[in-house]
Amino acid sequence: FDMFVLAFVERLFRPTYKKDDIVLGKKLGEGSFGAVYRVSLARKPSSKGGDLVLKRATEYGAVEIWMNERVRRACANSCADFLYGFLESSSKKGAEYWLLWRFEGEATLADLMQSREFPYNVEALILQDIQDLPKGLDRENRIIQTIMRQLLFALDGLHSTGIVHRDIKPQNIIFSEGSRAFKIIDLGAAADLRVGINYIPKEFLLDPRYAAPEQYIMSTQTPSAPSAPVATALSPVLWQLNLPDRFDIYSVGLIFLQMAFPGLRSDSSLIQFNRQLKRCDYDLVSWRQTVESRAGPELRKGFELLDLDGGIGWELLTSMIRFKARQRISAKTALAHPYFDREGLLALSFIQ
Ligand code: ADP
Ligand code: MG
Repeated sequence: FDMFVLAFVERLFRPTYKKDDIVLGKKLGEGSFGAVYRVSLARKPSSKGGDLVLKRATEYGAVEIWMNERVRRACANSCADFLYGFLESSSKKGAEYWLLWRFEGEATLADLMQSREFPYNVEALILQDIQDLPKGLDRENRIIQTIMRQLLFALDGLHSTGIVHRDIKPQNIIFSEGSRAFKIIDLGAAADLRVGINYIPKEFLLDPRYAAPEQYIMSTQTPSAPSAPVATALSPVLWQLNLPDRFDIYSVGLIFLQMAFPGLRSDSSLIQFNRQLKRCDYDLVSWRQTVESRAGPELRKGFELLDLDGGIGWELLTSMIRFKARQRISAKTALAHPYFDREGLLALSFIQ
């Protein structure tokens, strides 16, 4: 109860917005559940100006507002800076939820990974001035390590709050130009297990390219998921039993894989990888055995990168991509993994 009073008081002192305040700009995305626009404000409130992002959402807007409000209070740095959400009922298409965030930056991790410059384009965003260092595997590894640390840090914030994202993918990770760090966006498929909000998995919301194998298991083994009140009473236990956070860890593992292997960055090659891995019973070590002997230079480069420093990168990757959720490493434990003992990007900038 206190939580709701606090939330209410907090909201009272925040600026609120309505439809007439908002001037639509460029469309940034359109899914089956709504559209996202870059917007500006007709009359700028006294404090901070700058562009915003508006999502006009249909069915799942209410859940997404809930999740963003909770993130705002519990782990604000993990996600894009949320300003306000409201029900807009005057629209022609019927009632819509309008959600507003600060515009964090131009590029998602997906945009950045598509470039041939990756990961050096990320290094340029994170570091203000980069000396003319020789490009090479070790430098790439440090950049990727820095990105991974930021992703796991953001994810640990969400998981410690009791939120599972369930749609972690490069398209849902934005580079915040203000913070010079990656933040998570798009909480439309997220589940808050501590209070039972959206516990029932909506598999059709999940992106099959990045989903862990248990999405299928959940739908067949638990045909009737507990209703919200039951989930509320059981949630800490459910969390312990099912380790639902490890669903996101699998997805982050796939992102790590794609960053290490340039040849696995396209959609089609990721889909092919998923098929190969399934044929290997989700055992990454046997996948490696089947592909390494006939690997081209792009695959070989990925193995070389992960094998640096006694193979700690490969060790971390294999502890994230595992069939059984409970055998996957947690975000918090991963952050303490020896892979992150090596100095990352900041150290690199002081080298000279
Ligand atoms: P969808 O449900 O359409 O996937 P998202 O929340 O993922 O909605 O947003 C769609 C796109 O809009 C993102 O991929 C990103 O390019 C952009 N975007 C979303 N939020 C922000 C933000 N806070 N700052 C900058 N760009 C954003
Ligand atoms: Mg999205």
